[in-house]
Amino acid sequence: MAQSTTPSDSLPLPSATTHAPQTWIIIGASRGIGLEFSRQLLARGDQVIAVVRDPMKAAQLWQVLGEAKTPGAGVIEQCDVTKEGDILAFATRLKTLLAKGVRIENVILNAGVLKYPNRATEISYADFAHHLYTNTIGPIICAQEILKTIASFSSPSVTPPPKKIIFISSDSGSATLFRDHEDGFGAYAASKAALNQMLRHMAAEIRRKEEAERAKGKEGVVGGADTKQDNDACCVLALHPGEVATDMADVELDWEVEGIIQPDESVREMLKVIEVQGATG
Ligand code: NDP
Repeated sequence: MAQSTTPSDSLPLPSATTHAPQTWIIIGASRGIGLEFSRQLLARGDQVIAVVRDPMKAAQLWQVLGEAKTPGAGVIEQCDVTKEGDILAFATRLKTLLAKGVRIENVILNAGVLKYPNRATEISYADFAHHLYTNTIGPIICAQEILKTIASFSSPSVTPPPKKIIFISSDSGSATLFRDHEDGFGAYAASKAALNQMLRHMAAEIRRKEEAERAKGKEGVVGGADTKQDNDACCVLALHPGEVATDMADVELDWEVEGIIQPDESVREMLKVIEVQGATG
């Protein structure tokens, strides 16, 4: 297991080398897809703030941190997305990192839960709420607090907003794709559908704010350059990771799931999509 690190002491500041490592926040990084994101990003020299419910139970993540290309490029932070207090406390710790000059380029909201089965005709109030708190409300409020925290530090020369906010959603939440034979996924699908709709609103609200800021910036500039450029725009994405062999997918189903892939392939392909999306602002 890697040596325990103190988060705010370990994350290196951006350096002026030819390779510009990006910094990522990954919410839900202890296992599965979130762990694999951390592994691939740290292996290529990026910086990762890996956020987990319980750092003491994240043995695989500590190991991944220890194998990072750049020693100290990964730090672990605590946050249970179903607890508002945890989200606010994480935002406060994030302020400390920003104050030290850390710039966040990408945020991945990956935490999720699937308690199978979760049928609309059977699910308890508590289990339905658990899906909604973990898969919808938690990720949205987390993203909101991270954005607010970064915005409170922003100025053209200090901390720009993150370039990309990426929600790991699911095709189960698609409004157009309803697979009638996939019994037992009602609450999970509903939680991802609600996530999709909410993040569309988030994207639209961010775009409107950016347009208003650009308009304000142009008014203030007489014959000079507009400081807030189009390529500062923040891109909000929802990704379906594929059918991925993780703990979440380890359930006995009455039907054959086709095309199951391993987490490394899922993350490799998602990183390609993330890089292309929003690349032109
Ligand atoms: P896993 O069950 O392997 O991992 C889930 C991750 O979410 C764990 O790190 C877990 O942490 C974390 N998590 C759960 N609840 C909370 C919480 N309250 N606060 C913070 N973190 C939490 O699932 P996957 O890796 O497969 O799933 C990752 C994402 O991908 C999810 O959003 C899922 O819905 C989505 N997805 C997955 C698919 C698949 O086929 N696997 C298909 C479509 C979408 P802990 O270790 O503490 O429990």
